[in-house]
Amino acid sequence: MDHRKLHPDTLLTHEGRERGRVGGTVNTPVYRASTLLFPNVETLQAQNGTLNTYGRHGNPTTRALEAALAQLEGAHAAMLTPSGLSALTTALLATLKPGDHLLMTDSVYDPTRAFCDQTLARFGIETTYYDPLIGAGIAGLMRPNTRVVFLESPGSLTFEVQDVPAIAEAAHAHGALVMMDNTWATPVHFASFRHGVDISIHAATKYIVGHSDVLMGVIMTTEALYPEIRGFYKQLGLSVSADDAYLALRGLRTLSTRLERHQRNAERIAAWLAEQPEVGRILYPALPGAPGHELWKRDFTGACGLFGVEFKGVSERAIHAMLDGMQLFGMGYSWGGYESLILLTHPDAHRSATTWSAEGPLVRLHVGLEHPDDLIADLDAGLQRLRATCR
Ligand SMILES: *Cc1c(COP(=O)(O)O)cnc(C)c1O
Repeated sequence: MDHRKLHPDTLLTHEGRERGRVGGTVNTPVYRASTLLFPNVETLQAQNGTLNTYGRHGNPTTRALEAALAQLEGAHAAMLTPSGLSALTTALLATLKPGDHLLMTDSVYDPTRAFCDQTLARFGIETTYYDPLIGAGIAGLMRPNTRVVFLESPGSLTFEVQDVPAIAEAAHAHGALVMMDNTWATPVHFASFRHGVDISIHAATKYIVGHSDVLMGVIMTTEALYPEIRGFYKQLGLSVSADDAYLALRGLRTLSTRLERHQRNAERIAAWLAEQPEVGRILYPALPGAPGHELWKRDFTGACGLFGVEFKGVSERAIHAMLDGMQLFGMGYSWGGYESLILLTHPDAHRSATTWSAEGPLVRLHVGLEHPDDLIADLDAGLQRLRATCR
């Protein structure tokens, strides 16, 4: 059977599993290993230069996860890293050298921005931030030394949907690589490589693991870029434990099922919020009429439970009153687990090429797998507290 023709749901169930395993277990076991033993010198020497000589280069559990993720997104190969941020920084360092120029979306995850402004700058790599909605206009910012164009779509906190094919076409015409943080859509809902991306990065911490208990990142590449990036990754000495890889594989099996419910709940809650007088724009690309909806519909096959809610005519103090008393929505960073989260955000603090203007505070919701009626009741009580503060 040609696995490239299977649907994501089927791949999620069948990739990263070997038939005929000792003991016949459904799941690839946890292979904890630093040292690998060889029966004789000849066998050992035959493996030198491969990934099969030492535990740091992986084990059957991490490899099963890498294979499943690569197959799912249509990548040549995947590399696991200890966090999403380490996947981003590793991919940037692997591809850039002193004197190179990087084009970075202004809507990028803030720690990625900090890495560009501090570490890459120290290494003589210049970053120019661009408007996430620039599309083919990116061509006007390309320089002869532009090596990487970095996208994150939808953007962190503000959820701009980027025209990935148009940006990728312009980048490739100028000989630059296209790198993308694809965490929001997961490998299930945005086929990055089919849209011109060369290097796709995920915080697996979010939906892939899906249970708020493991930090992990993944870098996926085309065949052409794989040797260079794998080589650098290996030199950095990054490795991920088999136990964590096992948990991520376990999360992966239900990824599309969970996403479907996250999206359905998020759509219900977004529609309910849109009717509240204190709510301005809803920044959820899956919602008809929301910013980026048309591009989302063109390029994505689904959404998740993460979106932004703009309030209007209310103070931050009123938002505090709403958020401080939530019973079901937890307050915390991260997202992508089964549980609902709520967070007050300040996107204006993380911009340089564009300005963020809104009629009031911006709140980020991660809609979990709870019953949406209960979540709406929690939000409704929160809005009552907000209104009491405004009065
Ligand atoms: C959380 C997040 C990251 C970083 O992942 P960690 O595993 O927390 O390091 C990167 N990009 C995006 C879009 C994220 O939301």
